[in-house]
Amino acid sequence: MKIGFIGLGNMGGPMAANLAKAGHDVTGFDMADVTIAGVKMAGSAAEAAKGADVVITMLPNGQILRAVAADIIPAMDKGATFVDCSTVDVDSARAVAQQAEEAGLLAVDAPVSGGTGGASGGTLTFMAGGSDAAFAKAKPLFDIMGQKAVHCGAAGAGQSAKICNNMILGVTMIATCEAFALADKLGLDRQKMFDVVSTSSGYSWTMNAYCPAPGVGPQSPADNDYKPGFAADLMLKDLRLSQQAAESADADTPMGALAQALYAQFVENEDGKGMDFSAMLPRFEKRGHSE
Ligand code: NAD
Repeated sequence: MKIGFIGLGNMGGPMAANLAKAGHDVTGFDMADVTIAGVKMAGSAAEAAKGADVVITMLPNGQILRAVAADIIPAMDKGATFVDCSTVDVDSARAVAQQAEEAGLLAVDAPVSGGTGGASGGTLTFMAGGSDAAFAKAKPLFDIMGQKAVHCGAAGAGQSAKICNNMILGVTMIATCEAFALADKLGLDRQKMFDVVSTSSGYSWTMNAYCPAPGVGPQSPADNDYKPGFAADLMLKDLRLSQQAAESADADTPMGALAQALYAQFVENEDGKGMDFSAMLPRFEKRGHSE
């Protein structure tokens, strides 16, 4: 396939490289001056999109996605497919899909989980929203860049699944960290705490697969001085998206709101910026009951 790829950062760069390595004809564009193995570089987003069967975007936020979409949708051939893999707000995902469909294109919102390791290893999970035809067109590319693609429903369903998942993740990480901090203050050995909880009803991905306590459980960013991994800043972005969606859908999400407030405090007023999102554990360790 002839593929246009716009946004070649930490995630988009290796994803585009994997498509080129699999034999696709990939033309890329990024605001920054980047070089990606096997990818031809265009002078603008519209130039990268022109004549492509599929255009993929991997951009920082919904505002940038809307601006790039306004540039590339008119440049794309009718019948081509627009796949946005960025994590953005549900409203932007739906608006861009509607514009693309009005212009005679197929559209898929397909945010990913799996981080930069998944992007370079080709093991991402895609959560997709859009028509059956649009998903079918994008699926062979998801299979190269990832190990799993779930068609979640109509336009915006991919973003909805992503932010609901990450709201659970943020809330669960905080619960796991505060429980470890309490266990410490009760004099409980961390390994014993892990041995019990990881095989009891408190088990979770944050405890069992990404344990925030160094030296306990499988290797995780806690064992590397809390270098990300998944940065607290990105968790804050996703929690904000979940609260924006909750407001727009009139949903009651008190735990998500509290998780957003705690990550905002951690990233903006404490030392959480640039740390892994599991660094909430040393944060709780330093605090007392009434703080
Ligand atoms: P990044 O900042 O490394 O990459 C974004 C790229 O977009 C940059 O290279 C930037 O120059 C480019 N860009 C910005 N505006 C542009 C424009 N107008 N035209 C062309 N290029 C433009 O970010 P990333 O880590 O690659 O994340 C990309 C998306 O993936 C985000 O929405 C993020 O939330 C999501 N995501 C990231 C991770 C992760 O672990 N990094 C995991 C899952 C999802």
